Amino acid sequence: MKIFPQKILFLNPPSVKPVFRDCYCSGYSKGTFCVHPLDLQIQSGFFSTEKFQVEFIDSVFENLDIEKTIKKIQSFHPDIIIALIGELFMEKDSAFFNHLKNIFPSVRLFFSGDIARFHPKKIFQDIPKTEGVLLDFASPGILEHLYGKKSPYLLTYKSHHVFHTPRMKSYQYPLPRKEFIRKYSYSLPFFHDPHYYSIGTSFGCPNTCHYCNTHLLGYTLRPIKDIIEELHLAARLGFKSLYIRAATFMADQSRTFQLFDKWKQSKLKFEWICFTRPDLLNEELVARAAATGCCLMMLGVESFDEKWLNHMSRPMPLNTIFNAFRLLKKYKIRSAAQIMVGMSYKYQNIDIYEKKLSVFLKDLDPDYVSFNIFSNRPGIEYNDPSFNQIELNEDLYKNLAIRLERHFYFHPHNIMKQMYHLKSPKKLLILINTILNLIKSKGIY
Ligand code: SF4
Repeated sequence: MKIFPQKILFLNPPSVKPVFRDCYCSGYSKGTFCVHPLDLQIQSGFFSTEKFQVEFIDSVFENLDIEKTIKKIQSFHPDIIIALIGELFMEKDSAFFNHLKNIFPSVRLFFSGDIARFHPKKIFQDIPKTEGVLLDFASPGILEHLYGKKSPYLLTYKSHHVFHTPRMKSYQYPLPRKEFIRKYSYSLPFFHDPHYYSIGTSFGCPNTCHYCNTHLLGYTLRPIKDIIEELHLAARLGFKSLYIRAATFMADQSRTFQLFDKWKQSKLKFEWICFTRPDLLNEELVARAAATGCCLMMLGVESFDEKWLNHMSRPMPLNTIFNAFRLLKKYKIRSAAQIMVGMSYKYQNIDIYEKKLSVFLKDLDPDYVSFNIFSNRPGIEYNDPSFNQIELNEDLYKNLAIRLERHFYFHPHNIMKQMYHLKSPKKLLILINTILNLIKSKGIY
């Protein structure tokens, strides 16, 4: 076997539709939005010595089909492939990787993704020539394995029969490789400069919503000094926009204030966006987020039925939700409401539900809305009648999501809001693509 240097390819495999498979979650991307595959970005940092020659192919971002992806792989001729794999696309992903292994029999295959974390045995079953499955994307599991060491974070064919998934003690990893960051221009329309940098600040979630598997990962914070160091890297690379990749940013208020203090001391300036929960927001937090450059918060609203929210271990009075959106407006931070379509015990009739949700959204008045359809996440065994209702009528709810999305974004009030924020040709282009995507969607995606 060849020792060093080794050629490592980080690969987000092809897909007919835009998808994501990172951060232990797989699904279809909204509109034309593409985000950095964070697992691969973080892993790239472990291979920063001259012993490794690195290449990155994001077939989803480049819209490469299987044939074109294979051609690109051929021209790099890797020794090792570290790839993303998604539970939702397992059939197609495994067919692709088995095909790949036939073409490149000597290549060593490693995987990260939701299925890798929650059902790693399935990968060895469906892609038998897999060399290793990474249980923790912020761990040096693959690197240690390549140096012949045993790692609790990497399952191999030999070790996969008996294992337990280790809980991370710390969310610490080296800075990513610059070539990785520079390779593609991921863009989002929320910033003045749409070209943005993705940064991790915490892993997992301290909350325990029954439908979500993120809390099964535990909750670990990244050291503030590491975050600031990476902010310096982003600034050196010329980024002005930042996507904070944490499932629930600001879950710990005092720690968030410490981060904001250090950020301020560093004099680094970014526009930034994040995901968080309405019940975490208060005036001081929102004011300080705005002062640090926050331009958008994506808030998990999910339902307007308090009983359903309580039942899901997500107690959230509606006035708390309204208050959070009011605060964002006051401090000129745009808001995006995440809604899980159909989640209500009170309104089972889909037409009545649609009307009630429309009224709720009109009152809430977010700048953006994302309508999501429930799907059973790997690792989750909890069941509820509301989940069954969606699963039994999936097409109906998918069509409803598209109707609601069109209704929201084509409403004159919201068109005016979007126009107000359109201040660059790049943003206009992204918006046109998004609109075309909305028009093209035929109902079922
Ligand atoms: S707050 Fe969000 S990330 Fe955390 S468990 Fe609930 S749904 Fe999942």
